[in-house]
Amino acid sequence: MTRIDCDVHPTVPSLQALLPYMDEVWRDNAVRRGIEELATVSYPTTNPLSSRADWRDASGKAGTTAAALGAQALDPFGTDLAICSPLYGVQALFSEDMSAAFARALNTWTAREFLDRDPRLRASIIVPQINAERAVDEIEHWAGDHRFVQVLLLVGSELPLGRRQTWPIYAAAERHGLPVGIHAGSMHRSGMTPVGWTSTYTEDYVAQATAFQSQLGSLLAEGVFAKFPNLTVVLMESGVSWLPAYLWRFSKFWKGTRAEIPWVSDPPASIVRDRVRLTLQPFDAPPDAASVTRLMEHLGSEEMLLFSTDYPHWQFDGQSAWPEGLSPSLRQKIMADNPLRTYARLRETVS
Ligand code: ZN
Repeated sequence: MTRIDCDVHPTVPSLQALLPYMDEVWRDNAVRRGIEELATVSYPTTNPLSSRADWRDASGKAGTTAAALGAQALDPFGTDLAICSPLYGVQALFSEDMSAAFARALNTWTAREFLDRDPRLRASIIVPQINAERAVDEIEHWAGDHRFVQVLLLVGSELPLGRRQTWPIYAAAERHGLPVGIHAGSMHRSGMTPVGWTSTYTEDYVAQATAFQSQLGSLLAEGVFAKFPNLTVVLMESGVSWLPAYLWRFSKFWKGTRAEIPWVSDPPASIVRDRVRLTLQPFDAPPDAASVTRLMEHLGSEEMLLFSTDYPHWQFDGQSAWPEGLSPSLRQKIMADNPLRTYARLRETVS
């Protein structure tokens, strides 16, 4: 059986590692402006949500090389293919030009340091989310390299992702057969909760699920799924247990207010079952087989979940990336069939 991990994270060791992949203007800018590190806009590496302690190297970071990522995230799980999504805060920059230059450097670093070094690796295209035109440039630059298999956006965006200014990104992704992955994380234009900034990482991380709800509602109501009929959206590191309750609530009010959004012509839950996928970790249901079975019944589909370890984030101990209670046939779907159906470019490798 082909084993596919749809969410692993290489870690940029430092800004120094990206400088060789920038042109002289931006290398000079990074130095002159005194930009020492972008990772500080994410959680610190010492936070378990950034990296599990037993996976960190002497520098305190995990997954900084293809060799480390292969030894820790691929070999122990028998993974045949893994999709790398580096999180380095290039989306949080306020300069559209700088964000584009840093995204280019990050994607080039991923290609040279990871994709070129381990044939099991694939990657997401990181885009300057602040500007759709520049984001499309970045998609076009990498689209010919089929080791890049999706476009990545952060769930904490400047405006809801269904709004029209993001549509050129969806058009480019659809044109090239690339799903759009929406991953946990933020441009940090506003707090992660609807009531403002939190003071702890715990609250911030738990609240990511509410941001995913908001984005899913925006994509539905603004008509993204109707406008781009061949686009698949993958919710990454979103958790999964919130989805049935959110769809019950969305569907209840859609029945009364659907005249406002006539392009949502099918029940929202059926649109989501057809067009949206979710990575497995963090699997946030109770850890017993009966509860897991019940959640799968509530999701109403065995096609939606995609296996992920979310390496190197601490979502489980040891190698227990699987929740209990999943049948062998469902594990086969989550590990292989669903990812292959979702990512057209993975099918080019696996027959
Ligand atoms: Zn992740």
